[in-house]
Amino acid sequence: MTNIEMIRAYGHEQVAYFNNEKAGLKAIIALHNTNLGPAVGGCRLWPYESEEAALFDVLRLSRGMSHKNAAAGMPLGGAKGVIIAHPSEKTEAMFEAFGEAVNTFMGKYYTAEDVNTDTKDADYMLRTTDYVVGRADVSGDPSPFTAIGVFDGIRAVAQFMNGSDSLDGMTIAVQGLGKVGMDLAERLHAAGAKLIVCNNSNREAMKHAVEDLGATEVGRDEIYGVDCDIFAPCALGAVVNSKTIPQFKCKAIAGAANNVIYDDAAGEALKARGILYAPDFIINGGGVINAGQEAFTTYDKENVLKQVHNIYNTVYRMLEESKATGIPEGVIATNFAENRIKNGLDAD
Ligand code: NAD
Repeated sequence: MTNIEMIRAYGHEQVAYFNNEKAGLKAIIALHNTNLGPAVGGCRLWPYESEEAALFDVLRLSRGMSHKNAAAGMPLGGAKGVIIAHPSEKTEAMFEAFGEAVNTFMGKYYTAEDVNTDTKDADYMLRTTDYVVGRADVSGDPSPFTAIGVFDGIRAVAQFMNGSDSLDGMTIAVQGLGKVGMDLAERLHAAGAKLIVCNNSNREAMKHAVEDLGATEVGRDEIYGVDCDIFAPCALGAVVNSKTIPQFKCKAIAGAANNVIYDDAAGEALKARGILYAPDFIINGGGVINAGQEAFTTYDKENVLKQVHNIYNTVYRMLEESKATGIPEGVIATNFAENRIKNGLDAD
């Protein structure tokens, strides 16, 4: 497939390449869709092996942002930027130049921090562009909002499974105790859930979970096969795959990680095993709901929280539709988002 054929296949409106030799910037910004409003999506910095790899990533991620924003009920489209560089090559000039690149979209693209970029880099961008959301002094750290949304999504799963959204006495396995995973673990503990946890490197986090939250620690590879009601992946993508699916003893999967299901076949296999799945881009939408508000209205935390709590209803609806149709929840969620992108936020 040629690049332009690939862009057409993903359905993008515009893809732009930027080269600023003086500033050391090589970047691609992909505007997927603006039917619902200006497009929002972060700026990822990654040492891609090739331009093709960068293009593939930015196309995939920007379409994912269209789905995420639409499913969250935001009047926003989806986009993404990628800077082709190693984190050690970051400079202030690079991000100032990226800000200039953002300006060329004249308000149709709002950027934000992402993998390998942080609030400091966003501050450098703000020297040259106003189109940055997730500002430290406005909406701030998105992680607590993501954790609240995941917690609500897990309650919706409990309601669907048990006819009650109480988590009291339920066993929940949390993979990854980072910014979202730890906040979630604390909320689950406060709601009476029993925790099983694993984490890659953060011993402090593990100590807190075991000593203060009464969690049981298991090894990195053991977490998939533990006896639990819900598995909450909060570390890595693609953890639902042909190796892990036969190990699962959980009744449902609901966590913060992006791109949890490895591929369509894994989604089908999970469904065939009768394990419920709260679609990743719906349950983890709290952070983008928080930051995205800056792009279309005055930031208001109460409004943000109202919309984040609505994740409960959306997750429940995905589970219901999946049960009624036999179609995996992830596919239901993509169709739900695409219908909104095409026909408006009130289409469903
Ligand atoms: P984080 O980097 O703060 O935490 C990830 C944690 O996972 C780290 O403590 C790391 O040591 C641990 N980890 C890594 N590999 C592991 C493994 N194999 N087994 C167990 N633990 C492992 O990241 P975060 O911000 O908490 O995000 C967690 C996940 O949620 C990521 O996949 C992220 O893309 C997704 N997400 C985050 C947000 C947000 O607002 N932060 C929003 C949407 C989605």
